[in-house]
Amino acid sequence: MFKKILVANRGEIALRIQRACRELGIKAVMVYSEADREAKYVKLAEEAVCIGPAASPLSYLNMPAIISAAEVTDAEAIHPGYGFLSENADFAERVEQSGFQFIGPTPESIRIMGDKVSAKQAMIRAGVPCVPGSDGELPDDPVQIRRIAKSVGYPVIIKAAGGGGGRGMRVVHTEAALINAVQMTKAEAGAAFGNPAVYMEKFLQNPRHIEIQVLADKHRNAVYLGERDCSMQRRHQKVIEEAPAPGIPRKLIEKVGERCVAACKKIGYRGAGTFEFLYENGEFYFIEMNTRVQVEHPVTEWITGVDIVKTQIMVAAGEKLPFTQRQIEIRGHAIECRVNAEDPYKFTPSPGRITLWHAPGGPGVRVDSHVYNNYFVPPNYDSMIGKIIVHGDTREQALARMQTALAETVVEGINTNIPLHRELMVDAKFMAGGTNIHYLEEWLDHHRR
Ligand code: ADP
Repeated sequence: MFKKILVANRGEIALRIQRACRELGIKAVMVYSEADREAKYVKLAEEAVCIGPAASPLSYLNMPAIISAAEVTDAEAIHPGYGFLSENADFAERVEQSGFQFIGPTPESIRIMGDKVSAKQAMIRAGVPCVPGSDGELPDDPVQIRRIAKSVGYPVIIKAAGGGGGRGMRVVHTEAALINAVQMTKAEAGAAFGNPAVYMEKFLQNPRHIEIQVLADKHRNAVYLGERDCSMQRRHQKVIEEAPAPGIPRKLIEKVGERCVAACKKIGYRGAGTFEFLYENGEFYFIEMNTRVQVEHPVTEWITGVDIVKTQIMVAAGEKLPFTQRQIEIRGHAIECRVNAEDPYKFTPSPGRITLWHAPGGPGVRVDSHVYNNYFVPPNYDSMIGKIIVHGDTREQALARMQTALAETVVEGINTNIPLHRELMVDAKFMAGGTNIHYLEEWLDHHRR
């Protein structure tokens, strides 16, 4: 096992990884930008290294600064968290070339999955169900593009191979709009992602977002840890996640979970990963794979009892997965609300000093957050300041616990989206379960004030 790990991230996930290291008896070196000097995990750290100014290109995205921090502190491995450099194949490669273990999959796996066209092709070969669409990248010839769209059937969606974060996509309803849409998406993709390649998929009208968590080791063992429902989204950003997904038959989950495990073994995947699917009319359609730990990992931890972050570290050190698929049992129901420093209805960011922070507690309540009384939320980064996660024996109990937890939570000095979560937790349709990916935006349209 490693003796020392460098945590190349910030915020709640940096604290989460620090906690996992403590449990494993590993020293965690924290890195921070000048804006994060006062962060809780920095104050708690045995060792912390400033890697640059507030702007992330100069700090959390600064590969040489991070690698030299690992060198000067004698760390053996680097945990990238999520966001920043976590899905950057070049970073993973530089980490390993510098003699450190990257806590995540191989650079090759990251590269294949980072290009959505190659990811989809790998999944089709591994027998994972995908959204019907073009066979790889779209050709330039308008006649061929029209023919592909006709066979896929309108509406279609044009997506950038290098896209991410909900950007680089365009829905097309009619043939008249097709060629122009392809050209515009290509131009945008070239400018935004440095790769003009686009592909086409059937546009699913009212799907749910269901994802499968996997863990794999270096010995070709892989398991899936059930599914999460992340359909409550705004602008393709997840707001609430839960596990299991309400109303989906276990048999269907098992079938798709087994395909994901088979795909992991086929591509030699290692570490934690998530297969994202759209789910409509009882069918799963793969859209992309995330090759890192996800924000919403705690809901899976709670229903399976598996510590995903600790397991990531253990398998990176070469250990075998400490459980088999048959030992994974789903218990109860978990829900996560992402707490963002923003106006709850207008969504304008609300950084600044938190004058009062009171976190909820009690049975079945977990709060993952790096903030505290008098903490200053810097304006330079993502607006998420923490997560409230609850567990119950049933979904009803989990909902009741989240309602109580949100009622207990007090944040003063900045705006947060807690008031929005309080309303959603008593919304009849959300409470019934199974809302689709458009539900939250439709709800906001009707309730905007
Ligand atoms: P990103 O990497 O930018 O998150 P994804 O491929 O994961 O891109 O898609 C993001 C979101 O876009 C999905 O969660 C879904 O809301 C929508 N989307 C993507 N592909 C389709 C599709 N074929 N049909 C309907 N919606 C889609």
